[in-house]
Amino acid sequence: MAKADSKANAQEMTVEERLKALYDLQSVESSIDKIRTLRGELPLEVQDLEDEVEGLETRLGNLDGEVKNLNDAILSKKNEIKEADLLIKKYEAQQGNVRNNREFDSLSKEIEFQKLEIELCEKRIKEFTAELKNKKELGESSKTLIEDRKADLEAKQKELEEIVGETQVEEERLIEKSDKILNTIPERLQVAFKRIRKNARNGLAVVTVERDACGGCFNKIPPQRQMDIASRKKIIVCEYCGRILVDSAIGGEDE
Ligand SMILES: [Zn+2]
Repeated sequence: MAKADSKANAQEMTVEERLKALYDLQSVESSIDKIRTLRGELPLEVQDLEDEVEGLETRLGNLDGEVKNLNDAILSKKNEIKEADLLIKKYEAQQGNVRNNREFDSLSKEIEFQKLEIELCEKRIKEFTAELKNKKELGESSKTLIEDRKADLEAKQKELEEIVGETQVEEERLIEKSDKILNTIPERLQVAFKRIRKNARNGLAVVTVERDACGGCFNKIPPQRQMDIASRKKIIVCEYCGRILVDSAIGGEDE
């Protein structure tokens, strides 16, 4: 404690100046947070689009496979019809050489059976052809959708590159500014600031008194405590959330 105090004395900084520095430090850190949040969402959007395009391409690939299978199935049904036709011709020829009616009737039944087979094949071909048409249409609309999404993706990627480029400079400038302010305050305050900020949900270690309440947790602050804060004679933390409290006037003073 004594060591920290002597160091603070050496820096010859009043409590008011320290409070002001803490407030400024918080402002800069909040700006850095904002940049990181802004940039933080774009890569996610780009990632989502990349996933979507990939999913659509997989679906299109599956559709191509289904189209091929249907074409194969139609071809195989056509071959079955050809075979059935050949059998019918063969049975009809055999009917000219039968020895009795029983053999003739037996061949007639075979012919009848092959004719039914042909009908069935034709029915299947009709079904497969309709399905094929659907799949082809679906494939076409998938292709259009993929093109659209790819265009979106390209635009987002460009946006991301631009924002990264723009914000990088600003972020570096802010980090430099933050370091500069941080170095003006005593080490124990630096540590306290970092610890409070790390634990605070919104990254706020220093907050102003707003409408008689803590600007971090919104709990009411008693009038006497508010006067202590406004007097800027000592560093006061919120008894509920532990954030450093400053009066709302402190922020507007150098603007
Ligand atoms: Zn609080």
